[in-house]
Amino acid sequence: MAGETTWVDREGADRAGPGSSLRSLLGKRTADPLDKVGLVTAADLLGWYPRTYLEAKLSTTQLHEGEHLVVVAEVLRAAVAPIRSNPRKKLLRATVTDGTTEIDLTFFSHWGPAKDLTPGTLAVFSGKAGTFNGRWQLSHPDYQVIQDSVRHQQILPVYRAVDKLTSWQIGTAMGIVLDAVGDLEDPVPDELLRRHGLCDRATAIRLIHQPRTWGDLETARARLRYDEALVLQTALVQRRLTAAADEGTARPGRPGGLLDAFDAALPFPLTEGQRIVGEELAHDLASPVPMHRLLQGDVGSGKTVVALRAMLQVVDSGGQAALLAPTEVLAAQHDRSIRAIMGPLAEAGLLGGADDATRVVLLTGSMSTDARRRALSEAASGQAGIVIGTHALIQEAVQLADLGLVVVDEQHRFGVEQRDALRAKAARPPHVLVMTATPIPRSVAMTVFGDMETAVLRELPAGRSPITTHVVRQGDGTWMARMWQVVADAVAAGRQAYVVCGRIGDSDSPSGDETEDGFVEVGPSAGAGAGGPDGADGADGIDGADGIDPGGTDEATARPPAVSLLQAYDLLLHATPQLQGVRFALLHGRLSGEEKDAVMRRFAAGEIDVLVATTVIEVGVDVPNATVMVVLDADRFGISQLHQLRGRVGRGQHAGTCFLATPVDPSGDPEGRPVAWQRLQAVAGTTDGFALAEQDLELRGEGDVLGASQSGRRRRIRMLRLANPRDVELIAEARDDAQALLRDDVALTAHPRLAAWLADTLDDESAAYLERG
Ligand code: ADP
Ligand code: MG
Repeated sequence: MAGETTWVDREGADRAGPGSSLRSLLGKRTADPLDKVGLVTAADLLGWYPRTYLEAKLSTTQLHEGEHLVVVAEVLRAAVAPIRSNPRKKLLRATVTDGTTEIDLTFFSHWGPAKDLTPGTLAVFSGKAGTFNGRWQLSHPDYQVIQDSVRHQQILPVYRAVDKLTSWQIGTAMGIVLDAVGDLEDPVPDELLRRHGLCDRATAIRLIHQPRTWGDLETARARLRYDEALVLQTALVQRRLTAAADEGTARPGRPGGLLDAFDAALPFPLTEGQRIVGEELAHDLASPVPMHRLLQGDVGSGKTVVALRAMLQVVDSGGQAALLAPTEVLAAQHDRSIRAIMGPLAEAGLLGGADDATRVVLLTGSMSTDARRRALSEAASGQAGIVIGTHALIQEAVQLADLGLVVVDEQHRFGVEQRDALRAKAARPPHVLVMTATPIPRSVAMTVFGDMETAVLRELPAGRSPITTHVVRQGDGTWMARMWQVVADAVAAGRQAYVVCGRIGDSDSPSGDETEDGFVEVGPSAGAGAGGPDGADGADGIDGADGIDPGGTDEATARPPAVSLLQAYDLLLHATPQLQGVRFALLHGRLSGEEKDAVMRRFAAGEIDVLVATTVIEVGVDVPNATVMVVLDADRFGISQLHQLRGRVGRGQHAGTCFLATPVDPSGDPEGRPVAWQRLQAVAGTTDGFALAEQDLELRGEGDVLGASQSGRRRRIRMLRLANPRDVELIAEARDDAQALLRDDVALTAHPRLAAWLADTLDDESAAYLERG
């Protein structure tokens, strides 16, 4: 993390600079705790922005027992008195007021406080609020006296405490470091700053830590937001330009080949979008510059056919294509549906196989040794034109004869490093097509997938049946009975249904093999990101799609635990008369790959009427005869996840119905978990995945949307709000700026300060930051 070249020091080498160690600037006592959270250099500390600010005037605060309280208050009285139980010991008792409430303070070591806290003194106090004899109390709180001179103007930064250091101690250290490093030259070219009307970086850093006015803070934030956007976009554009300079292999296809045969046999016409995107991909693949594309399309928009056609073009060019799915269920399903739609074209060397045919092989962790050996050998020999597997494929010793195209289904769980590992399997970088299972907002596309070209499928194939969505109160017996009746009627009419639960059993504990299940839990504070620079904190600790609810009570809301899969199964089997005689099966992440596959096969074959499942069915599962979906505890799932789930029905000629059951009762509960309620209403209100993705971002905040890597301590995106149109615009501008800077100068040789700053900023975090969870 030595960043001595980050900013160029005007005064020469003997002065402290951003690369100076905190130990040399602050001493061991202060530097050691900072070191523990990875703050080693001056620049590191300067990047530790305040989490909020207090105005240095009396403030009214709502008190809650046990809560950590930070309050600006004035000392009313203070006196040192002996302790009753031990008269030889003394303590300081003081009473302060924030203008509305009196708070008692006690200090066991009374010398310092007695001197500082004389009546009339204004100070910031922080400690755990408690009550004693009906009065509010803070026991030996931290405090910082607010000097008279700044009493009416200063805005106090509040830092997240680090180990033994309080916010104030960090503030003091910050002042020392700011003074020591002095003015630094700006890494961003003047011309850009002028154009955007931004202050210089040194000023921004000083003002974010020591604003005198709220206006100062805005000035600082505007600059730091831009910097964040610029660093991000420069890195992404650079990555893209560098990848484009790689020498790949052109896969132009072949007239009269597999692709043509496939098109001729396709039972439906391509949609306009499929055709256009298909042409774009065909064009990209025909070039030796490795394709690097993101394909977005709503649930059911027909991404697989688009991907398959690209794969066939590569096979027609003598190469192989790999299709990676996030789960074994999906990999197996892709295998099945691709074989089905290819028919004889997938049966090279078999009786009935077409002349032009290739082979499709499935490679999963749970295959029998024999099947696996055969699949591996077909992949290695090149006999198999299409290799399908889970993401694990890339970690394994799979050899491919000539990997020309990698298609990744469901990008969110697939990071850059994995892509790089995969690339290493080919002699030359293969073309890469990434498909997102959910539409993503433009700002996220630009930040998270900014190193790729994008393509979008907006329309659904004609003849799709509509899906109607109802929000149902889980506690209401009448409603629930009616809902189960709809399921029963569907089954009686020969249709099938899903019942989705967020957790498996009563003794669920998070463990690796369950990672396909689980909620995206949205806490009450998620999306509260409008505040300070660290506002996205609301998203901390909220699990991504891989989380699993531990099954206990939900502390924050004291709501009952979610209905488990086993409970639901029991309920449906024994306590729901409407569903007598219905054939049920369970599907969840603890089943082995083979078991899951067997269940899915039976469901697809119509041997099972109702599948009681966890979110393993979330993406891509395609059984057109399934028309009804019931999601229990729907409020615990994210918007995009619900939309994905819902996309499992209405895939055939029959209309789909989706029930979002929830114990949330907005009328009975004034707090109403309103966000939860809004989310369900949003999902019920539209089937436009793009619109839902925007709302999801707005309600949940970026910490969540960007995945785990962004919720770490050193988040890359701290100032930007991806749901805020202002910031979306800013990101787009920064992208243009980055493109202009890099166009003829990928290495930024004309801007050495910018290059050094980028390298330094991205240095140790680059992997984490480009990693997409
Ligand atoms: P998704 O984009 O969600 O992955 P799929 O690729 O699974 O969607 O396609 C959903 C269903 O639509 C599949 O059964 C597929 O065969 C069918 N489909 C794809 N394209 C068309 C089309 N142009 N016309 C009719 N059906 C189509
Ligand atoms: Mg799909």
